[in-house]
Amino acid sequence: MRALRIKAWGGPLEAADIARPSPGDGEVLVRVEACGIGLTVVNCMQGHLGDDPAFLPRTPGHELVGVVAEVGSGVPAALAGQRVAAYFYLVCGSCPQCLASSESLCERFRGNVGVAIDGGYAEYAVLPALNAIPVPDGVEPVAATTIPDAIATPVHVARLAGIAPGARVAVLAAGGGVGIHMVQVAKVYGAEVAGLDVVAAKLAYLEGELGVSAIDSSDFAAVRLPASWGGQADVVVDLHGRPPAQRWAVDHLARNGTLVALTTFPGEQFAVSSRELVQRQLTVAGSRYNSRHEVGLAARLLRDGRVRPVVSKVVGPDDVAATLTDVRAGTVLGRAALAW
Ligand SMILES: [Zn+2]
Repeated sequence: MRALRIKAWGGPLEAADIARPSPGDGEVLVRVEACGIGLTVVNCMQGHLGDDPAFLPRTPGHELVGVVAEVGSGVPAALAGQRVAAYFYLVCGSCPQCLASSESLCERFRGNVGVAIDGGYAEYAVLPALNAIPVPDGVEPVAATTIPDAIATPVHVARLAGIAPGARVAVLAAGGGVGIHMVQVAKVYGAEVAGLDVVAAKLAYLEGELGVSAIDSSDFAAVRLPASWGGQADVVVDLHGRPPAQRWAVDHLARNGTLVALTTFPGEQFAVSSRELVQRQLTVAGSRYNSRHEVGLAARLLRDGRVRPVVSKVVGPDDVAATLTDVRAGTVLGRAALAW
């Protein structure tokens, strides 16, 4: 089968012809139809989510969607023929966190799809059955690549931060793959939403197509939140991850406000005082991926047309590497995807 692989963490993506894998106990073989291309894939390929040399060579791509072609022993035969989307984290399914539907906090976490096991930049992929989440009928494969991360992670954020009707929610890096769905999910949860970004085409889409207040954040000193917000937000969702933006966020949180952090750039940090946390009762929260239940919620939001999947570019295998370069440069609106 055709595959795109890396031979070293941080190395280039190379086309390869490799044997089709077989599903083992508790696993399924998926004929991959489409797979997301986003910044997390770049991070995975750099080794930021695991850089064990024993994992190499590796097929990246965690937002894979496809049809179950074969089931291993112990997996219900009825799963064959079902279109599924991959849950990104390899979890045990039986520890207290998993039983509490907090699988991203699994106590026996063993890595990520596309890092610790091969992902969807190949014509077939083997997944643990636990990681194969059914896609609702009528949802096309390319659109479905947005379900397990780009939409489900915003659903997790909305639940974690308690986004409720009337909340003022600002999203930093709102035109990217997670951000462009975060603004939509926040609206579903009843919020007033402002999307901050630096690319004109992304700002135009946010305001023109999605109906959120779009704000140019090229210079945080010049950012002005919507006039009716009184200069404050109840929730700031940070997908940007740089200290000036994070400091801006804390400075603009309303009393009882929450900053939700979603980036993991090594070495980045910013100062927050206990005094300001207490005096304004602020929360700084980390948000780690999502739960399998939230992937199901995300799938329903997509199926019901309440969230629009924004996949602005669909490419074949020959153009994945170039598209990853565009993603890294920040020029891709929403998500891109590989279609096999
Ligand atoms: Zn677990």
